[in-house]
Amino acid sequence: MKTFCILSAFALVGTCATPKYTAKIQNLRDSIKIEDSSLVLNYANTITSKELSTHLYKFASKDFEGRRVGEMGQLKAAEFLKNYYKNENIDSPKGAYNYYQNIPESFFSNGIKASENVLAYIEGSEKPEEVIIISAHLDHLGVNPNGQINYGADDDGSGNVALMEIAQAFNKAKKEGHGPKRSILFLHLTAEEIGKRGSEYYVQNPVFPLEKTITNLNIDMIGRVDALHKNNKNYIYLIGADRLSKELHYISEKVNNAFFNIDLDYRYNAEKDKNQYYTRSDHYNFATKDIPVIFYFNGEHNDYHQTTDTPDKIEYELLEKRTKLIFATAWQIANQAKRLEVDAHNPLLN
Ligand SMILES: [Zn+2]
Repeated sequence: MKTFCILSAFALVGTCATPKYTAKIQNLRDSIKIEDSSLVLNYANTITSKELSTHLYKFASKDFEGRRVGEMGQLKAAEFLKNYYKNENIDSPKGAYNYYQNIPESFFSNGIKASENVLAYIEGSEKPEEVIIISAHLDHLGVNPNGQINYGADDDGSGNVALMEIAQAFNKAKKEGHGPKRSILFLHLTAEEIGKRGSEYYVQNPVFPLEKTITNLNIDMIGRVDALHKNNKNYIYLIGADRLSKELHYISEKVNNAFFNIDLDYRYNAEKDKNQYYTRSDHYNFATKDIPVIFYFNGEHNDYHQTTDTPDKIEYELLEKRTKLIFATAWQIANQAKRLEVDAHNPLLN
């Protein structure tokens, strides 16, 4: 730290701000206190590879015909999700129509038919107006011209079944008197594969005010291992966490260090990364509204956007662990005393 100050005196620029900023970041990190450790683990452990697998073999089965937006298979997938939440006694939010946010055909083009986002909701016990959105896209590519189904088990069946299990865990906690203090919206988005249109529609027609939407944790492919990690499967790419809220980034790290020790790989978070994944899934529509996001992603693999993305290739133990991380991160944000802040509004950084 000293070195920086001495150098800056020579350079006559305010690089003394660097150690000061470092101290602020340290204060921010220290301010994050992990909430309810034993409860978090208790409910995280209700998320199991077995249930994830059962759901995924259905969600990515031939019954749903590759879930092409606006087609019968996609509607069947939406019905499957709706019925799941109904059976679990997890509510549809006011502002949705029986778990659906209907998107009219006129919103789309190129002959895409009307479709729907699927929404389920757990109301917060203390700050119900503040909402955490956990999302995944329910649509995929449908059937190819040769009549082969794009099953989309990883893309994004893995994200949908993660939401189902996270919702069940929060709901069980609530039934046992440990419900989240802030509200949680489980948002299954349609039309991601044709340009993130379901999330675009949601942010244009939010069911809860965007000013009170404090984060979006978006899951798009978390069931596989990419070529870069063949020798270390215990990883997940995180993208976006520090772009709008350093607090979100450090919460995510602290939760992971406290419970899971997954290797959080940030290589695709680099602003100049050529893949630009930050802009490529539904979270980006929330980020453009200044809502801090984390995008959870396992990277691409040979079956990405192929008819061979099937449920037998999913690594269910890994899917379970990653799902637990997202659950525990959401738990922290939902239950910590202070609302998650974007950097511009964070008193610890300003
Ligand atoms: Zn996807």
